[in-house]
Amino acid sequence: MKLTVLTLFPEILRGFFESSIMAKAVAKGILEYELVDIRDYATDKHRKCDDEVFGGGAGMLMLPAPLGRALEAVGAREARTVFVTPSGRLLNQAYAKDLSKETHLVLVCGRYEGVDQRIIDEYVDDEVSIGDYVLSSGEVAALVLVDAVYRLVPGVISGESLEEESFSGPGLLEYPQYTRPAIYGTMKVPEVLTSGHHANIARWRLKAQLKKTLAYRPELLATAELPEEARRLLKEIATEGGSDEPYTEDPGAAD
Ligand code: SAM
Repeated sequence: MKLTVLTLFPEILRGFFESSIMAKAVAKGILEYELVDIRDYATDKHRKCDDEVFGGGAGMLMLPAPLGRALEAVGAREARTVFVTPSGRLLNQAYAKDLSKETHLVLVCGRYEGVDQRIIDEYVDDEVSIGDYVLSSGEVAALVLVDAVYRLVPGVISGESLEEESFSGPGLLEYPQYTRPAIYGTMKVPEVLTSGHHANIARWRLKAQLKKTLAYRPELLATAELPEEARRLLKEIATEGGSDEPYTEDPGAAD
């Protein structure tokens, strides 16, 4: 997959692409990336890339001409081109999975009040928001999108690591996890997790996922693909008084 990001501030993005898992995926040849400075496509001596908004109002807008030239130069018409904007569709795991199948993804980072609508009409396939809040610029949003997408490209990280994450599998939030030491201060790891009893561990984890999802994101349960065991556990949770708090108890200890 090739990732191309068009921005007025490539230096904000560079560290991400040159570090950690992304750098390894690039070294292995699984991913390729290109950071494009839109200002390189401005033609006047001040390399101007913004102007006032027609009709009035506060703030400036990114000029269509430099951005249009940059988009032509990177082959945006043949790629899947995404503009990150608070007025787009909300980013979620299913959409990230969909984008991870593309061979060339072009991302446009907005600044100021955003970009001229004619650029969106001409080049953009999807307008995507990373959440219901307004950032000062598109670079951080583009990095969020890139991070959600590239780790799903086959070969970047092990498939096993992806299987049991939040939003994967049945579509629930992830269960709580613990590592060594088994006793940290006065806090003990739930006994069931050190029992080696795989069926009990799986049941504890599923119940923990259900309680956490009920506490933080109950709307996910409406679309989750729940196994029969989960329906039984949901009834058990209800008889225990529901899940107002993050899940902390250790049902394994009672088994
Ligand atoms: N005038 C725009 C509006 O009200 O929708 C906000 C512009 S914002 C100050 C500047 C740029 O930051 C946007 O063009 C976009 O690229 C980026 N941005 C801000 N919030 C974002 C969000 N929630 N998701 C994706 N991009 C965002």
